[in-house]
Amino acid sequence: MKIPLSASDITETEIAAVVETLRSERLSLGPKLLEFERAFAEYTGAKHAVATNSGTSALHLAVRALDLKAGDEVITTPFSFVASANAILYESATPVFVDVDADTLNIDASRIEAAITRKTRAIIAVHVFGRAAPMREIVEIAEKYDLKIIEDAAEATGARIENKTVGTFGDAGIFAFYPNKQITTGEGGMLVTDNEQIAARASRMRNQGRDQTQDWFEHTELGFNYRLSEINCALGIEQLKRIEPILAMRESVARKYNQRLRGNANLILPEIEAANQHISWFVYVVRLSENFTRAQRDSIVKQMNEHEIGCGRYFAPIHLQPFYREKFGYITGDFPVAEFQAERAIALPFFNRITAAQIETVCETFERLIEAVR
Ligand SMILES: *Cc1c(COP(=O)(O)O)cnc(C)c1O
Repeated sequence: MKIPLSASDITETEIAAVVETLRSERLSLGPKLLEFERAFAEYTGAKHAVATNSGTSALHLAVRALDLKAGDEVITTPFSFVASANAILYESATPVFVDVDADTLNIDASRIEAAITRKTRAIIAVHVFGRAAPMREIVEIAEKYDLKIIEDAAEATGARIENKTVGTFGDAGIFAFYPNKQITTGEGGMLVTDNEQIAARASRMRNQGRDQTQDWFEHTELGFNYRLSEINCALGIEQLKRIEPILAMRESVARKYNQRLRGNANLILPEIEAANQHISWFVYVVRLSENFTRAQRDSIVKQMNEHEIGCGRYFAPIHLQPFYREKFGYITGDFPVAEFQAERAIALPFFNRITAAQIETVCETFERLIEAVR
C-alpha cells in the first residue's frame, strides 16, 4: 500500500524505552504497569486505571465488574466496532440497539428512553471516531432509570466534553491502544473508574482472579489472563507523554482534508469543531451525498485500494453482522439511520505523519473516482 489507511508513529525514545524494559528483570506485573496506570488515571482525571491486553478485554472486565449477566439488557449503538456489543454477549446479557444521530453518528439520546424495559440494566455509550457521545443526556437518563453506564472510549483517548475527559462520566470507561488508535502499545487497553470496588475487581479478574496480596496459586474468583506486559506498558508510558502533540497533528490532518475537499457537492465532510466538546481524531471519515448507492461507494473503496490508497468502509453496522442476524433475527431496515450512514461512509488514509503531498494524492484520486462512478 503506497498510502496506508493508518500508520503508527513510534519515536526513537519509545523504542529505547522498550529495549530498556527488555533488558530489565521484569517483563510482566512490574513497575511499568503501575507507572502506565498512574499516568493514564492522571491524564483522564479518573481515580483508578487498570491496564489490560486489549480494549476488548477492558470492556469485558467492565461488563463483568458491573455484574451484567443473562437476562439483563444493555443499551448501545449499532454504529460501532463489533467489540463494543460483543462484550455484552460474553456475559450472556442482551444488547439492545438504539439508532444513531445522522450528524454525529453517535447514539441518539432522544431515542434511548423508548428502548428501556424492566430488564434494562446499563448503557454502553461509544464515542464514535473520537467524537463524544451525548454524555450529559445519557447520565440524566441513567439516573432517572437507575442504570449503569460504561463508556467505550476506545476511539477517543483525549476527547472531552467541556473540560471533562470521556471515559469518566459513567461507572467505568475503557480505552484501546491497537496500532491504529491515537496512542498505541501494540495491543492494549485501559479501564478507568472512580469506583474502588470496580477497579479492584477488574484488576483481580485481569490476573486470573488473584488478589494482589495473595500468593500466586490462590484465586478468589473466576479470572482471565488480560495482563498487559511491561514491554507494552513501557511503550504506552512514552506514547502518553506525547498525547497532546499527537492529537494536534491529527486535528491538523483532518483540517487539511476538509480544506482540500470543501466545496465538493458529492461529499459530506466531518465537522472539525463541535459545540462544548473537543474531538480526538481517530479516523477521517467522509460520507458520499444521498444520491450515491452502496454499490457505488464499494466500487470507489475498491478502486482506491487498487490505486494503493488505503480506504475503509467505517463501520458495517453491528446488528447486520452475520452472527447478530442469526442470533437476534435482525434485518436490514432495523436501524435505518445507522445503515444509511454506514452505506455511504468512506475512511481515508489518516495518521499523524501523513504529508501534504500524500493528502493531495488521496484527494485527487478520490475526487476523480467519485466523478467516474456517478
Ligand atoms: C478498537 C475498538 C475496540 C477494541 O479495542 P481492541 O484493543 O482492538 O480490543 C472497542 N470498541 C471500539 C469502538 C473500538 O474502536
